[in-house]
Amino acid sequence: MKKEIEIALITILVFVLVLVFSLQYVSEEREEALYESTITYETYIHSKDLWKPAINTHKIARPKTQKETGVSYVPILMFHNVAPIPPNASELKKSLTVDPKLFESMMEYLKKNGFTPITLKELNKIWAGKMPMPLKPIVLTFDDGDKGVYEYAYPILKKYNFHFVIFLITKYTGMHTHFYMSKTEVKEMHDSGLCEIGTHTRDHVNLKKTPLITKIYEIKTCTNDVKRLFNYTPTSFCYPFGGFDRESVELLKANGYTMATTVIPGVANSKDNPLLLPRIRIDGRENLKAFIMKVNLKP
Ligand SMILES: [Zn+2]
Repeated sequence: MKKEIEIALITILVFVLVLVFSLQYVSEEREEALYESTITYETYIHSKDLWKPAINTHKIARPKTQKETGVSYVPILMFHNVAPIPPNASELKKSLTVDPKLFESMMEYLKKNGFTPITLKELNKIWAGKMPMPLKPIVLTFDDGDKGVYEYAYPILKKYNFHFVIFLITKYTGMHTHFYMSKTEVKEMHDSGLCEIGTHTRDHVNLKKTPLITKIYEIKTCTNDVKRLFNYTPTSFCYPFGGFDRESVELLKANGYTMATTVIPGVANSKDNPLLLPRIRIDGRENLKAFIMKVNLKP
């Protein structure tokens, strides 16, 4: 009888060990697949199923609670500009620009349905267990620092007291152009406590396609630009054109970044590499119904 118990215990032990090792292997394989991913901004923007995962390492899965699953899912939305769209605009421009009226209805929907927009800095704290998880967390990100974010989106975000993240191409911040937000505009939003300033390189380059020396220059200078202009040390980054590789991820880590977003479609979760977070793209050509579907994706 004693021997039988011994055999049973050994069998269980072996089973547990195999399970642990195979889980480890799966998660490594999953990260490997991200680096092998061939999704680029160009292919992504022209794909018909924009929010559908192009690689199956990320399930589009929307939370049960963290308690139920042990994994916390948070949708990170990718916006660019918010502005009226001229009828003769190109398809690319139409896709990157959300009309202010539509944007207002999107934010109204989030408010009425109990979503809590948070910054990536806050999400990092939540996942580290240093801040409580709010009800229905969601992250609103705006790439490039387009002027319309200040002119059209910010008044609405302020009205609803929504937190959000902007990713600046820092060579334009501080320049006077009609297309990008000025230093004063960014400072006003940052000072309000609603806006996290993230970086998007200095020159909007695809880090996957540049030599190491350029990667170092781009990441270091955009970080220093934000420190100098806003007396703030950025910790969130967005890869221009969705281009990343191991070198750029390592450089971000070395420069104090804790969160970085890609254009890989999917709902981010607490088990993801925080420097390779997937996002859900919001396309200006789509309507409110598409938006509602995207923010409510179910596992
Ligand atoms: Zn960009």
